[in-house]
Amino acid sequence: MSSVCVGILALQGAYSKHKEKCELLGVDSIYVRTPEELRMCSHLIIPGGESTTISKLIKFNGLREGLKKFAKKRYVWGTCAGMILVADRVDDPRVDNLGFIDIYVQRNAYGRQIDSFTAKKHLPFVDGKEEFKLIFIRAPKLLEYGDSVTPLGSINGNVVIARNDNILVSSFHPELTSDPRIHSYFISKMDEKR
Ligand code: GLN
Repeated sequence: MSSVCVGILALQGAYSKHKEKCELLGVDSIYVRTPEELRMCSHLIIPGGESTTISKLIKFNGLREGLKKFAKKRYVWGTCAGMILVADRVDDPRVDNLGFIDIYVQRNAYGRQIDSFTAKKHLPFVDGKEEFKLIFIRAPKLLEYGDSVTPLGSINGNVVIARNDNILVSSFHPELTSDPRIHSYFISKMDEKR
C-alpha cells in the first residue's frame, strides 16, 4: 500500500486525541469501528482505555479476524490498554488479547498510590534533543519480552516503549502531550532499520 491512512480504533477510550495528532501532522486518518473501515488503513492505533471493554467490543464489532490479518502486513501501535490488547500474554484472563507481539504484560501494575504519574525521558529513536513527557494512567507493565522485540525506552528499569518489525507498544499516553514525535515515528519511520 503506497498511501498512508491511519486508522484509530474508536470503540472506547482515548481515541480522539490520536486523531488530533494525525491532523497536526497532516496525515489522513479515520476512526475504525468496522472491518470495512479497517481495510482502508495502512496503519492502526489501538488507544488507551479499558482493555477488558475494548476486547469485548472488538469481538462484538466482528473485528478480531480482520485485526489479525491486518497485523500480519501492516503497522499497529498499541498505547496503554492498546499495548495490553496486542500482547502475546496478559496476566488477566478477562482480556481476549490479540497476540501481535512477544511480550508479557501486567495490567494496572504500578500500584494504587501512583496509578497516574508523569516522567521526562530522552528517547533517542525520535527526532530532536528535547525530553519527551511520559504520562502513565493506570499503566500496564511490560514484564517480559522475546528476542523479536526491541526496547526503545525505559523508566526505572521498566521498558515503557518497544517494537518488533511492525508492531509498536507504549505503556504511556503520547497523545495526551503536545508532542507529535512518537506519532511521526509510527507513521513514517517504522520501516527504517531499528
Ligand atoms: N488500566 C487499563 C487497562 O488495564 C489501561 C489504562 C489506560 O489505557 N490508560 O485496560
